This record gives sequence, structure tokens and C-alpha cells, in this order.
Amino acid sequence: MQAVVIERPKSFKIEELQYPKPGEGEVTLDVRACCVCGTDIHLLDGEFKGSVYPLIPGHEFSGVVREVGLKVTHVKPGDRVAVEPFMACGYCFFCKTGKTNQCLNGMVIGHTASKQGLRLDGGFAENVVVPAKNLIPLANHVSFEAGSFIANLGTIVYAIRRAQLQAGMKVLVFGTGANGLILAQLSKKTGASTVVVTGRTKSRLEVALSMGIDATVLADDSQEKELKKIAPLGFDIVFEATGSPQIVERTFRFVKNGGKIVLYGIVPPEQNSVINAFDICRRDLEILGSFSSINTCIIAHELLSSGVIQVEHLISHRFSLQDWGNAIRTAREPSRCMRAIVLMP
Ligand SMILES: [Zn+2]
Ligand SMILES: [Zn+2]
Repeated sequence: MQAVVIERPKSFKIEELQYPKPGEGEVTLDVRACCVCGTDIHLLDGEFKGSVYPLIPGHEFSGVVREVGLKVTHVKPGDRVAVEPFMACGYCFFCKTGKTNQCLNGMVIGHTASKQGLRLDGGFAENVVVPAKNLIPLANHVSFEAGSFIANLGTIVYAIRRAQLQAGMKVLVFGTGANGLILAQLSKKTGASTVVVTGRTKSRLEVALSMGIDATVLADDSQEKELKKIAPLGFDIVFEATGSPQIVERTFRFVKNGGKIVLYGIVPPEQNSVINAFDICRRDLEILGSFSSINTCIIAHELLSSGVIQVEHLISHRFSLQDWGNAIRTAREPSRCMRAIVLMP
């Protein structure tokens, strides 16, 4: 079977590897679709903390069960599935108290080497072994492409739950990446009265409007004026989905007194934002972090299978496994590429 192998930072090959047999509690998948994520770019560039090379990247994928291990009972060969890539140990303090996203031994398929000898190869391969408990069965009408969004969609559902979004609230989303747009769409479907997306790329704001989002505001000199027109008192919830420390600072101008700022985009760890403590206190603000997800990948599937959320239109570029280098190059240009995906026939 063929797989993308990052041998060391900045160097990868499409290699012919041995077909991987599943262990007792594992399954081998025929991978069908795997999304390119910013993390894959960081892994190739050697900028992802904790990764051990060589590695097979890819953590947002779906496929068909090909072979099951001896102790696997809930799926069988031929089943269509998506993969929840997050792995929590199950025994640390955070796992025992239900905060699996804070697991002290947390790992992600396609990112990291395992401390416990588990194989954590990713989905940019014809076949991959994954723990059976990480599978999310796909309804027949949910495509493999949509299935490969489940890992991401799970983090979005988690952010909406963290925010305790309630009917009638006004919501603002900074960021026009696929995640920002889905976050906005799901806010609307959850009952927000007004949902606005703001960002710099015009073509993406047009996509936002096609997704039932109430209004978009171009992030230029008139951004502040335009947003104040829509919500003179500010927004009940402001989602930061760009990962920029400057935008984090900007969110404070648009949150309503008593409102919430949800930090969903991942700001690089060495970058800081300046925030005013008096402002947070005086205005009764809540600042919430939202990291990864807890038990929401299965809910993501519910949203896809019920048709509440559609994602296929967010895929702007499709590639074969052999063309992985091109997929990465394309994904490096966010003004051109919304979401790149690798498909295996
Ligand atoms: Zn990702
Ligand atoms: Zn744990």
C-alpha cells in the first residue's frame, strides 16, 4: 500500500509500505478521503511540537473497514466510517472527570508518536490501522468527503456548547476559513437571531452568505462602523476563529457588555495579546477557551446525516494521494483554497 511519509521536516515521499494488519482492538481501513489541515502543513515544516519523524500525516479522514481485530465486535468489513482522531488515556485525572480534551497523555492520530506503543499513523495512506473505539459509523447518505469533516465539526459543536449559545443571541465570527463559516452556520441553526461573519477575503464572505448567514462585513477600514451599525450594543458571543493575537485584541470592541469571547482559533503559543483587565471586570465579560472536543464527533455526524450542516461545497480542491505535495502547496494559499482534500478511489 502507498502512503505519504514525512521523513523529517521539509522532506516527504510517497512510499510503498507493507499492508498494516490490525491488532486485537483495532481495524484496518481502506481510506477514501482525507482533508488537508493547517496542522499537516506545520508537520511538514517541522513546526509542530511533540511530533516524532518519520510519520504518516492526516487526521481528518474516512473510509471503509477492511479487516477487524479479534476483539472488535461493533464494526465489520465493508462498514463505512469516519475516524475521531483524538485519543485520551482514560485513567488520568482529566479523563476520570470527563475533560478528555485535557488528558495528560493525550495523542492525536496522524500527529504524534505513541507513548504506549500504539500505532498512530495518519490517513494520507491507502490503508491505516486505527483503534476500533475511534470509529464513527457513517450513515449511507453521508459521503466520505463529508465524513472527513467530522473531526473538525466535532470541535465546532464543542465551541458552540462551551459558549452556551441561546436562542435570540447575536453572534459575530472573526474568520472566513471553513471552520469559521461552519461555526457561523451552526450558530444560526442553533437559534441565534443575527449571525455576522467578518474577514478579509471577499470570495469567502460570498460563500458565507450562501450558507444562510445573515450578514458579512469586509475587514477593511469601515469594519468597525459596519459592525456597530448591525449591533450598536455589540454581540452576545464573539467567536475568534483566525488564531491571530491582533484579532483576539479586536474582539473586545465588538462584544456586548456581559457577553462572551470564545477563543476557538489557535494562536501560536509564543504570541501574546494585550487585554485590559479593567475592561473585562467593568464590562462583566467572559473569555472562554475552546480546545479540541469532548464527545462531540458523534454529534457532528448527527448534524451531517440530518442535513442540518452541509460541508461538500467548502471543498475547493481535490487531489490524488500521489499529488499530496500539490495539495499541501495549494492549501498554503488560503486566498485561493478553502479546503483541499485527498481522495482515494
Ligand atoms: Zn485538523
Ligand atoms: Zn487521560
